[in-house]
Amino acid sequence: MPRWAPRFIVRLTRNRIVPSSSRRWDIKKSLYLGVIGFIACHLYCRLFGDTCPLVSLSCFQTPQRIPHDEAVRQEFRPTKVGDSFGPTWWTCWFKVELSIPREWAGKEVHLLWESDGEGMVWRDAQPVQGLTKEGEKNSYILTDGLKETEPHSLTVYVEVACNGLFGAGKGSLIAPPDPDKKFTLNKAELVVFNRDVHELLVDFEILVDMAKLLGEENQRSFQALYVANQMVNLLDVTDSCTFPAVRHLASSIFSQKNGESQHTIHAMGHCHIDSAWLWPYEESIRKCARSWVTVIRLMEKNPEFTFVCSQAQQFEWVRNWYPGLYAQIQDYAKEGRFIPVGGTWVEMDGNLPSGESMVRQFLQGQRFFQQQFGKLCSEVRMMKTMNNNRDKGRVNHSAALFGFGDGGGGPTQKMLDRLKRMSDTNGLPRVQMSTPDRFFSMLEKEKTQLFTWIGELFLELHNGTYTTQTQIKKGNRECERILHDAEVLSSFALTQKNTFQYPSIKLQHLWRLLLLNQFHDVLPGSCIQLVVEDADGSVTMENGVIAAHLDSMGRVMSLRLVHSGRKPITTLLKPLEIVLAGGLRGSVKFSLQISERSVITQEVILDAMCPYLRFLTQVDWNEAHRFLKVEFPLQVRSMNATYEIQLGHLQRPTHWNTSWDWARFEVWSHKWMDLSEHGFGVALLNDCKYGASVHKNVMSLSLLRAPKSPDATADIGPHEFTYAVMPHRGSFQEAGVIHYAYNLNFPLHTVPAVSAQCPAWSAFSVHSPAVVLETVKQARAEDRLDGLVVRLYESHGSTVVTWLQTSLPVKEAISCDLLERPDLSSHLPLEEHGLKLSFTPFQVRSVLLILRQ
Ligand SMILES: [Zn+2]
Repeated sequence: MPRWAPRFIVRLTRNRIVPSSSRRWDIKKSLYLGVIGFIACHLYCRLFGDTCPLVSLSCFQTPQRIPHDEAVRQEFRPTKVGDSFGPTWWTCWFKVELSIPREWAGKEVHLLWESDGEGMVWRDAQPVQGLTKEGEKNSYILTDGLKETEPHSLTVYVEVACNGLFGAGKGSLIAPPDPDKKFTLNKAELVVFNRDVHELLVDFEILVDMAKLLGEENQRSFQALYVANQMVNLLDVTDSCTFPAVRHLASSIFSQKNGESQHTIHAMGHCHIDSAWLWPYEESIRKCARSWVTVIRLMEKNPEFTFVCSQAQQFEWVRNWYPGLYAQIQDYAKEGRFIPVGGTWVEMDGNLPSGESMVRQFLQGQRFFQQQFGKLCSEVRMMKTMNNNRDKGRVNHSAALFGFGDGGGGPTQKMLDRLKRMSDTNGLPRVQMSTPDRFFSMLEKEKTQLFTWIGELFLELHNGTYTTQTQIKKGNRECERILHDAEVLSSFALTQKNTFQYPSIKLQHLWRLLLLNQFHDVLPGSCIQLVVEDADGSVTMENGVIAAHLDSMGRVMSLRLVHSGRKPITTLLKPLEIVLAGGLRGSVKFSLQISERSVITQEVILDAMCPYLRFLTQVDWNEAHRFLKVEFPLQVRSMNATYEIQLGHLQRPTHWNTSWDWARFEVWSHKWMDLSEHGFGVALLNDCKYGASVHKNVMSLSLLRAPKSPDATADIGPHEFTYAVMPHRGSFQEAGVIHYAYNLNFPLHTVPAVSAQCPAWSAFSVHSPAVVLETVKQARAEDRLDGLVVRLYESHGSTVVTWLQTSLPVKEAISCDLLERPDLSSHLPLEEHGLKLSFTPFQVRSVLLILRQ
């Protein structure tokens, strides 16, 4: 065995050749490289011992994702290591017959499986282990130490999805998937796993990391390297009798404890699984199973291991598709180790869903966790950000989530083994396996030391996500409207006819479908084409179930606000035709060739008694790497523009003074935006757009983009949308901009009256124009079926007291929270004018109305 490298190192150390600092660094580097080389040459290769071929290996392929029971009934054909399978998105099921050699009794035996794609091992018709090479999981532990009496022969199945942990991008991660990719099985055999070599490797790796990462002058860095060097000299890799003494040396440095002031890291296993991104929803279901079953295996072996897991939707998937695994998860959840967190249905995009959708993310998520795990999640989406703790001087606790993520994968045994050694080692932060409850209760004690961030958290690297995949965004706005209307009408029907069955199950199903499509790579449009098809299908389903002065050249010369004498717009157009010339509606139509391949057609409509000019727009869009925006240069000057956000609005600068301003060249907005100076302003309304900007006096709305990754077909084809421009006097609040934006998005429904004598009827009215009645729905809890929940919010940014009047047979009114839990100490008196409600700026209030039978 070549031992020259370590001996060379020893001689340098013992001779203490430290003539100068540069010489010292050379020596340290030599030591470091020597140890690294030793590990690479002599340890990794000894991780696995004897090998044994499989008894037989056969496979069958399918383009479908089918259940195990169905798969094992198929005809399997012989295959061998080195064979290819696929293409992309197919599934290859392998039947593995194996027999562990008698002479391996008492040894730890693994099924070593190295292949492209993501695998799942099935044993006795149950999923038992996820296999992903990118997630450093390429073996399944058949036995920790086989007993003579145990069966040595068995059959397992390996289900391999023809996609990697990060999909199947052609050439790069976020390139569109390569549909013709082939996958190869590189290794499939039985192997003796040398656990003692694994433990030595973990010791060495931590010491080498300490030497490298603690800094050149750090004393512990030198100490770690010195100990690693000693270990190399003491170790005879061919003689396991030398291992304990070597490991003792390592533990001598790991067990040197920190002082009292050392920072504590609360470690929790985690595995971020995008519910869809570079792979479709169906694959995410399997990703959850692969990742979580692996977590269960780790929990069986590591009693201290905790794992936090978000997204109720993913739990629901596993509940439906992998009930056996789900039962095990519930058991560990009861122990407080498999911990649901976040409280939302999915990890939704934080900007684009409506305010009510945000409420429903929590309502549906928390309801699920309460029903399934007996408790609500007490913490939200901040787990990830706690990783990058910038308040080290202020607080002494931070959270660290460990495990492969995005495409699933999760923690590995090696990660857990490293954490155990680093629990309290001088020079390293203390690490303890923790829970969100424990972490936040520690942070609670230090909360007065923490900074508070005021305003929006703008993620400047996430550009383009307010516009791309415009059909998904339009579908989102439409579904929010449809569900709103369906709930309002169902609620009214409930109060009029006590035999009416409120469609609560159907509405819950539809809400959950919408909430799923608000996932943070779906609604923003950062997903592949397969996901877009899934999301478009959902919109179709939701719809199914709920079922100016113009010159002769067509130029909008100006838009004049009557009595104000102000001209806000000049935009170039092409020749037009007059569609409607007078009466209650006037409209003109024109088409514009905006490039060789794209055409825009607009009907510009002005209705009587309506303060805004509507642009009903059709675009045939066939572009590459282009952005379509509409700009309105205005005669308005203001340092800030106002944009609607969920249940409120905020102001952003119209200038680019700082880098932060520059980064906000495009911002997100909901139904309206406004640029006003004292006494006059212009609002821009829309029915399905989210990207906007105001720079100096130019107001822009982002209409369409044409990115090519990860979906090369994104937004190619026909589109239809509406925006409207509304000049106004006074402030936007006084002009009713919020009110008119609702009108554009929620057009009046007309239905035939039951009889000509049908009296005029109004269910609700709110006296203050500042307060919006956003939602009317049936109350949540089963014992409140005779109740409705109404949600109102203050929209002007003012403190107001108002009356909510209703003609519904209300006998009792109680304040409740967003999860519809009544505050029994807050009964609201029913007075002659209705309910008196007070609001602070942007306050959201929910009221439970108990109806008379
Ligand atoms: Zn993600």
